[in-house]
Amino acid sequence: MPLRIYTVAGIGLVLLLGACAPSNSTAAPNPVAGGPPLATPAAQQSPAPDDGPFTIGSAATDTIGGYLPDGQTISPFDVTNPVVAWLDPALLAAIQNAARSAEAEGVDVAITSGWRTKGFQQRLFDDAVRTYGNVGTARQFVASPDTSQHVVGKAVDVGPVEADNWLIRNGSRFGLCQIYANEIWHFELAADENGGCPPLRPNAAG
Ligand SMILES: [Zn+2]
Repeated sequence: MPLRIYTVAGIGLVLLLGACAPSNSTAAPNPVAGGPPLATPAAQQSPAPDDGPFTIGSAATDTIGGYLPDGQTISPFDVTNPVVAWLDPALLAAIQNAARSAEAEGVDVAITSGWRTKGFQQRLFDDAVRTYGNVGTARQFVASPDTSQHVVGKAVDVGPVEADNWLIRNGSRFGLCQIYANEIWHFELAADENGGCPPLRPNAAG
């Protein structure tokens, strides 16, 4: 079982940012206590096979795929990183189109989290259970690996706040909707054909 390192700062981030637990809220496992987070294994950098990223051996149980180091964001156009590359193609196109429009209005759109492995989502969820003390409360802030849309590449977390606000106002033109009232940074391709977004759900458990 890989050693898990939970920092006080990481737990603080979960408390502050809550919700879909941005990927920088936990350190990647490192077999050396106190060592730096491990780089993403080269195997994860390879393109997803036709049948998706979850049937390629170690990726099925990988606990760090989708992890980004503290404070690191990714351009929605950086398709060399699986966080972006393994997003659902329709969602990827939507966030790229939205980012172009936002940029034209002087707003930079960055991805703070996108595709994640099931194992990494489990770590985020376990972290939340530790933080909040029980599964029921944790579910309000972090989706389980079985329900997270990040795991199937159908959700993106966006920053900074200016970009979140821009997308909340304009995202539905591109099909993008805020889903949870307590997560202004989490967007999914959920608009209907008229550009209408579904009613906000209070949180990931609601
Ligand atoms: Zn999210």
